[in-house]
Amino acid sequence: MILMHLIRNEHMNVSRIFSYAVGIFAATQLAAQSPSPTTLIKAARLLDPRSGNVLSPADVLVENGKIKEVGPATQVKAHASGDVKTIDLGNATLLPGLIDGHTHLFLDIVRPPDAEAQRHENGNFAPGLLLAIVESPTKRALLGAQMAREDLESGITTLRNLGHSGIDGDTELRDAIKAGRVAGPRILASGRKLITRGDYLWNLNPALADAILDQEFLLIDGTDRAREAVRRNAFQNVDLIKVAADENLTVPELAAVIEEAHRKHLKVAVHAVDKTSIQTAIDAGADSIEHGNEATEAQLKQMRDKGIFFDLTPTSYDGFLRKASEQLVLFSAASRAAFASAESGRTRQYDQLVARVLKSGVKFAAGSDMCWFYPGKTRGEASTEIFVNLRAAGMPAPEVIRAITTNAAEMLGWQDRIGSIEPGKFADLIAVAGDPIADISELERIRFVMKDGRVIRNDFQQEHSK
Ligand SMILES: [Zn+2]
Repeated sequence: MILMHLIRNEHMNVSRIFSYAVGIFAATQLAAQSPSPTTLIKAARLLDPRSGNVLSPADVLVENGKIKEVGPATQVKAHASGDVKTIDLGNATLLPGLIDGHTHLFLDIVRPPDAEAQRHENGNFAPGLLLAIVESPTKRALLGAQMAREDLESGITTLRNLGHSGIDGDTELRDAIKAGRVAGPRILASGRKLITRGDYLWNLNPALADAILDQEFLLIDGTDRAREAVRRNAFQNVDLIKVAADENLTVPELAAVIEEAHRKHLKVAVHAVDKTSIQTAIDAGADSIEHGNEATEAQLKQMRDKGIFFDLTPTSYDGFLRKASEQLVLFSAASRAAFASAESGRTRQYDQLVARVLKSGVKFAAGSDMCWFYPGKTRGEASTEIFVNLRAAGMPAPEVIRAITTNAAEMLGWQDRIGSIEPGKFADLIAVAGDPIADISELERIRFVMKDGRVIRNDFQQEHSK
């Protein structure tokens, strides 16, 4: 979560946050079409994120949910025999499905008004980021299902859910999606977030505090409990471990987490914002560092040399959080002024961070870190806006696309399954009307989504049978 960083560094009055429950399914359900055995997708262009090459025109042959062949129109068509369904996307550009390296499907935060924040402070994360206090796991499961569907409809076909999802919210949602009960991206679930006591929240009612914390976090207190926390998450069949590093977390504790996780073939994503926490994550051998806002040049070089991924989360870039909040809550003039001045400084700092990351040669991916209720936008629309902000922060368009396709796939360890349109990979494809290299904001207007060879969305309306 980036929120902690904002609060501590900019003295924003966002220390109390609560949320609306928006766990209501929209009436419109996805057309749950059963996969067609063989599908031929035709488009004017196909962008390969790795090389930056554009194939034009391009055909993609999909069989049993996987990509079978990619190539020039005539060549692929000749191999498509039998009962083939053709989807002609006309002048569109095809890309691989997007990967959100860092998100929170079970949160839907509304920034509280100033008086609420000032008079009832009991920690940064209650109850907006500690929904276990006020909502049942069932209600949150339905919220998560809605957010997952909205992400998928905007072209996010795979994501990592990194905490704040109850004890088993994200593992169960992952399995429900796999089983076809609800529509959503492939989910890599991290289960409960590992934290040290005192991180994230404090001053909860002592009679209830541990019961509440236990719903959402696993506490690290020494190396034995660090290992136990990994085992408890592994019992819930998580795909990776998420740890929040703060000044309390020691290198031996984090190293114990990582050693135990690796023994179970689980990667470890470490939230680290300040320099000290980033160094702890580097020294302990994290697989990815989430946020990393204060990473120095020397630290980026250490990350590069150790092969640690940098997962960029430009969630607050260019007034994003203000735009999400100001439609909901009336803020005082003083609060507005504080927000505005913090905003420009934050944006400038992020530009510098992106420049340092690009120059360092560190491996990088990107995540939305979305956890906010954003009126007028679906969760997917808000998340893709955050990706597009990387371009404004100075990252060239091809690199932005790599960060949420090929690079992200490698960060997940799924480079053999997703991230590019290549034979053998899952048929997770998206398409936009224009050229995303010339105008990266095309990614906010995904008009075609296919996951597992199944059409989730097609606004091009040119589908026909051969
Ligand atoms: Zn986060």
